[in-house]
Amino acid sequence: MAVKRIGVIGSGQLGRMMAIDAAHLDTEFVFFDEAVKSPCSNLGETIQPSSQDSLQHFINSVDVVTYESENTDAQLVKEINQSVPVYPGVSSLLNSQHRLTEKSFFQSIGIKTADFRKVTTKEELDLATKELGLPIILKTTREGYDGKGQALIRTQADVSSAWAELGDKELIAEAFVTFTRELSVIAARSVSGEIKIYPLAENDHSAGILRVSRVPAQNITPEKQEQAKGFITTLLEKLDHVGVLTLELFDTETGLVANEMAPRVHNSGHWSIEGAYCSQFENHIRAICDLPLGDTQARQPFAGMINIIGKHGDRNLVLTQTNCFYHAYGKDERLNRKIGHINIIANSEQELESSIANLTDFISECGD
Ligand code: AMP
Repeated sequence: MAVKRIGVIGSGQLGRMMAIDAAHLDTEFVFFDEAVKSPCSNLGETIQPSSQDSLQHFINSVDVVTYESENTDAQLVKEINQSVPVYPGVSSLLNSQHRLTEKSFFQSIGIKTADFRKVTTKEELDLATKELGLPIILKTTREGYDGKGQALIRTQADVSSAWAELGDKELIAEAFVTFTRELSVIAARSVSGEIKIYPLAENDHSAGILRVSRVPAQNITPEKQEQAKGFITTLLEKLDHVGVLTLELFDTETGLVANEMAPRVHNSGHWSIEGAYCSQFENHIRAICDLPLGDTQARQPFAGMINIIGKHGDRNLVLTQTNCFYHAYGKDERLNRKIGHINIIANSEQELESSIANLTDFISECGD
């Protein structure tokens, strides 16, 4: 079988884990990114967009293209797609890039979201606070991630400072959702339309950054399980999505509420490298190459993931544990930067929790 040449727009840790996890499928990776030294620099050629004839060179070097970020330039995706297929397609990308578009889309296909309003002027913000009721979360419609570009408005006294901070951008005001926890559902859909869904993850954040995921999320009612499956399946099909898709959810007393989606492999799915029969990274590559999808079930009853943020920490503490797996991304230490993660597999909840407790230094070594 011929080697499949896969192009990735970007060269961060997600591209790195795709290349590592799909190497055994006879793949070759080419990265399209300005960074010369990156998490991907040892895993294939990097073509710098600023170099001469770079786009044509990239297109000639690959059979299929994917990307690492929902902020990928949609124009670039459209242009490449005229010569080589790009997955996920532009519809998945455009619906994920803009919070207003995304939430309107969710609602149009029956996926529940927080009530929201578009805000472009101070008057619209004042009206939104009245119509939605306080508290509200004010967010930029584009390019927000890990809680950046957001302000919580608890009382009327917070309105002016939130407007001063964010008012120069297009905004969305969201009603505050009272939730018990945050969940995510990740699934893959292949070119042929085959769909496989991973078990739900429960995600702990701090300062807007994911710290720990636990899989499968415990004590989910069958109704909520079905709701999550229904949401992600509807999304995959309505978008004609190819590749991995992630949906972040709030767990509330009255059911699941969608927060946002990412047309890509996701931090809350990193556990799947050792935790599932087929990882999200391999399944993403299988999906875009139209290979049969791998089994998304967990290999062991419990799995976890701890992000390594800011500082590398004591690696040997992980390497000496049979059920823990260390993944570094080839990145330098920097405050609040995701530089690696640790996967944990366990036979019981108690074993998982005691492994997480053993590694608490990693969770706190992040400059909070
Ligand atoms: P986001 O960038 O939209 O993922 O938001 C970052 C974090 O802010 C989420 O993980 C939630 O913890 C919180 N958050 C976002 N939107 C809402 C909302 N409408 N209600 C309550 N909390 C929210």
